[in-house]
Amino acid sequence: MHDFGFKRGRLYCENVSVASLARKHGSPLYVYSHATLTRNFEQLDDALSPIKHLVCYSPKANSNLGVLRTLANAGSGFDIVSGGELQRVIAAGGDPKKCIFAGVGKTEEEIELALKKGIYSFNVESEPELVRINKVARRLKKKAPIAVRVNPNVDAKTHAKITTGTYDNKFGIAFEEIEGVYERAAKLKHLHLRGIQMHIGSQLTEVAPFEKAVRKVAPLAKRLAEKHGFEFFSIGGGVGIVYEPALESGDANWWRSPKRKKLLTPAKYAAKLLPLLQPLGLRILIEPGRFIAGNAGILITRVEYVKRTGVKNFVIVDAAMNDLARPALYDSYHEIVPLTQKAGDHLKRNQISSDVVGPICESGDYFCKKRMLPKVGEGDYLALLSAGAYGFVMASNYNTRALAAEVLVKGNRAEVVRKRQSLKQLWAGESVPKWLQ
Ligand SMILES: *Cc1c(COP(=O)(O)O)cnc(C)c1O
Repeated sequence: MHDFGFKRGRLYCENVSVASLARKHGSPLYVYSHATLTRNFEQLDDALSPIKHLVCYSPKANSNLGVLRTLANAGSGFDIVSGGELQRVIAAGGDPKKCIFAGVGKTEEEIELALKKGIYSFNVESEPELVRINKVARRLKKKAPIAVRVNPNVDAKTHAKITTGTYDNKFGIAFEEIEGVYERAAKLKHLHLRGIQMHIGSQLTEVAPFEKAVRKVAPLAKRLAEKHGFEFFSIGGGVGIVYEPALESGDANWWRSPKRKKLLTPAKYAAKLLPLLQPLGLRILIEPGRFIAGNAGILITRVEYVKRTGVKNFVIVDAAMNDLARPALYDSYHEIVPLTQKAGDHLKRNQISSDVVGPICESGDYFCKKRMLPKVGEGDYLALLSAGAYGFVMASNYNTRALAAEVLVKGNRAEVVRKRQSLKQLWAGESVPKWLQ
């Protein structure tokens, strides 16, 4: 469910016409729906309501201040992965006491900042990190709350670049070694052993790998909780979304799609996991990023040229892999729709096999290949759907392209939550050495 859909042939985000936003703010433009963000959060929150829990949204999926504030207002905690993200959460009005801090490379400065701000827990990924956190806490005369990330060695059956819960990955500490690590951690005087954590990967579309990992780790969590007086067990993020096709109201075939049945809903997730988690008596944390933000955002782009070759129909647009890297990085699918539907667009005879490509000088700079799309022309706008997670956050200035603007919509209101970057900002910190002038 999301709040992008066609009304009288025009794409709307909630009650705002997307084309009007494109005309007003230019393109490329990210547009986010407040209602979708909130609903996705609430669905997960409600599904876990039978037990003590906290949903900690992962800002790494989308860290715009407007998005973070939307989730903070809904009651969300945050699963941060850097000192920068902690500062962002605070700047957006989030509560550091609801923050957990993950990541394999926390620096002393980041640990110090997190301790001073009073985060809920560090999710620790190695023994040297435990030693370092203890050292910084001693210096600050504090006790650092920690959980160790257990690597359960369960294959998440997702894309290789986003699987994290097997022994091939750099994350966490091997299942077999965890108890010894907690024994040693218990001897470090400036640590407070508060819980245990795991996260097996991203974009999981089935509940089975989650269930397998929870079944494996739950008895260990129970033993350790009794021994060390834990409060929580974080089972990580990773709940996937359906990218293909994503537009319920605009796509007549969606309801017949076999993919829809496979959709991993919060209800299915909770039905399998709650019976395993409830008996632990622990507070359960989850760390969703993509599930909350993924289908809450779209990327608008304008068609610059249509280039026909003997074999191809290239639709050259003004967005590129620097704006949305997922197709280049993960071969990912984003549904592409024109902002204005014409009668008969859905008929095969009005469509043409198209490659939608950006202007960057790389062959990897494409959004789709050989996809049947309605015929479009110069100046038409297209929307890339389900671009709310791992979209803008991965944008770069490659090819000296300015970062896109972002707009947040709520009902019939729309506000720019990030201004388009000016070109001058791109080289503002650069200089030519004196000895070259
Ligand atoms: C990336 C990440 C998440 C969020 O993953 P999603 O697939 O976006 O839900 C949660 N926890 C940790 C530790 C992560 O690295």
